[in-house]
Amino acid sequence: MEDELEGIKESKRISMMHTGEHIFFKCLEKQIKGLKLEKIKLGEEESSLFVQADNLDWETIFKAEESANQIIRENRKVIIHETTKAGISGFPGLRIKPERIEGNNVRIVEIEGHDFSACSGKHCEATGEVKNILATKFRKSPAGYEIRFKVDAGKDMLEMARTARTAAEALGTEQEKVAATIRNLKEELESCKKAMKSQKIETKEDKMGGLHFIYAVFEGMDKKLLIDKGNELIKEKTVLCFLNKSEAMQVIVMCSADSGKDASMIIKELNEKIGGRGGGKNNFAMCAVEEKNAEKVLKAVKEIISE
Ligand SMILES: [Zn+2]
Repeated sequence: MEDELEGIKESKRISMMHTGEHIFFKCLEKQIKGLKLEKIKLGEEESSLFVQADNLDWETIFKAEESANQIIRENRKVIIHETTKAGISGFPGLRIKPERIEGNNVRIVEIEGHDFSACSGKHCEATGEVKNILATKFRKSPAGYEIRFKVDAGKDMLEMARTARTAAEALGTEQEKVAATIRNLKEELESCKKAMKSQKIETKEDKMGGLHFIYAVFEGMDKKLLIDKGNELIKEKTVLCFLNKSEAMQVIVMCSADSGKDASMIIKELNEKIGGRGGGKNNFAMCAVEEKNAEKVLKAVKEIISE
C-alpha cells in the first residue's frame, strides 16, 4: 500500500515536471529568438532542457521564469486535443516532431492560450498544480545549453534566499548589489595582484656550507606570486625560504635537486620544532606557523638545514 502511494506521488511529480516543462520552454522561446529544443531530461527533483541558442544569460532566463510563474499563478487549464496529422494546421505555433509520431493520430497538449505541443505524456489539469518554476542552473553543453529547473521549489527558493542574505551580510552590502559588489571586488583583486607583481621582491642570501640559502620576509603577499618568484630564484645547490606574514605566518621552502635537502622534511621538522601545519614534496613544501617573529622562524629553518 505504501509502495503504491509512493508510486502515485512519484508520477504526480513527473506530471508536474512535464507540465512545467511545457510552460517554461514556451516562455524561453518567447524570450530567445531562434531557440531550439534538442532534448528534455525529466526527473522528479530536477529536470533539464537542452537547447540551442546563440547565447544565454541569467537576465533572459529570469524573464522567462517570471512569465512562467505568472502563467502558473493564473491557473490556466491544460487541455488535451486529439487530432490527426491533417488536423495539426489548426494549432498555431504547434511544437511537434512529425517523425516521432506513429500512425495518423496526434495528441496535442495545450497550456491554455500559451502553448500547443504534441505530447503523449501525463500532465496536470491546470497550471496552478505546478506551484512554481525555478531555474536552478544553466551551462554550456556540447550541443548548446543545458537549463535546469525545478517545480514546486519553495524549499530551494528559501535556501537560495538564505545564501543571498548571508552573502549580502558578508559583503556588507544590499542583496540586490551582491553580484555587482563581487564583480568590483574581483576587479580590485586583479589590480592589487598587478601592483604586487610590479613590486620588486628583494631577497637575501647566506652561504651555508656548500649551499646557497636564499630568504626573505614579506607581509600579506600573494602566495602564488611568491611561489613563481621562488621558482625563478632556485639555482644549483640552493635552499630557499620565504616567510609571508598574514593571519598566520606562511612558510614556503624550496630545495634544488642537487642540494641534498628535502623541503618536506624541513617543513616537517619545523612543524615539530615551533608548531605548524603543512607539508609538500622534496622540492617544494609549505606550512603555516603560529610564531609571529620572523627572525625566530628563520633561525629555526637555518638550524634544520645545517643539521
Ligand atoms: Zn508533455
